Amino acid sequence: MSADDVEVALEAVQVGGVTGAAGVGRVVADGEHARGLMNRRVLIGPIDPCGECDVCRHGGAAVCPHVRVRDALGARTTAAARWLVPLSDGLDLAVPAAAAVAGDVTAAYTLYARTGAAPRDPVVVVGATPISRFLIEILLAKGIAPAAVGSGGAWADWLRGKGVAVAGDRAALAAAFAERSLGTRPWRVICADPATVAAAVELAGPRAMLTVLAGRSPPPIAGDALGREVTVLGIAGPHPDLVVEAAAMCVKGEIDLAAGTTLAAGDPLRTRVCEIA
Ligand SMILES: [Zn+2]
Repeated sequence: MSADDVEVALEAVQVGGVTGAAGVGRVVADGEHARGLMNRRVLIGPIDPCGECDVCRHGGAAVCPHVRVRDALGARTTAAARWLVPLSDGLDLAVPAAAAVAGDVTAAYTLYARTGAAPRDPVVVVGATPISRFLIEILLAKGIAPAAVGSGGAWADWLRGKGVAVAGDRAALAAAFAERSLGTRPWRVICADPATVAAAVELAGPRAMLTVLAGRSPPPIAGDALGREVTVLGIAGPHPDLVVEAAAMCVKGEIDLAAGTTLAAGDPLRTRVCEIA
């Protein structure tokens, strides 16, 4: 443990997913330059960027070349104090659901924030995952009326319950946007599931913007999208400097953290979390 680090005793962790380890725990030891977090409950994400290099200093902490990555979280872990988000002080979140905040919830928030979507933009969400689900809630809270790709099943039902247009192909999505008078601008296609990137590329028409969550094994990009002047934006994973915003949306109830997480295995639309004994 370096002077800038603390040791965290984990109370709950996020299990699986494409974004790596995340969790919530209590600080049980602090380095010489990391005082002030002792005994605090903190959110912890998958990476510790160095925070000092040129990449970090220009907003690229998520892709810092000196990053320290946590592939898995056990009962205890060492973490850089500067990226931890302490709870309480108006940021009270229940355990174990809070374990997902610095992971899947922040990944969804990063997709939204880096896309820079505004309320009148036609935004398409591709992929049926827990991150897509959090992303839909974030977009709705920001006054954006997204459409999503789907046909039937639990994902389509959940979307319809939120008033989100669900469509199976490009023509149906275009009709949904026309109905909402959002038909004229290039689309912003957000792909929260690396496995569905080919479908996302197909939907990205002339001069569209395509935001793709790359995850731990980035998909090859991007079919014939470049010939249509599509802007492709990769998101490496949850940006550590956006955890605070994601947590605040959970506290406000704009993101339903309890409904979006589960202790059970095998639910494709909820982030699995696990309590540490
Ligand atoms: Zn760095």
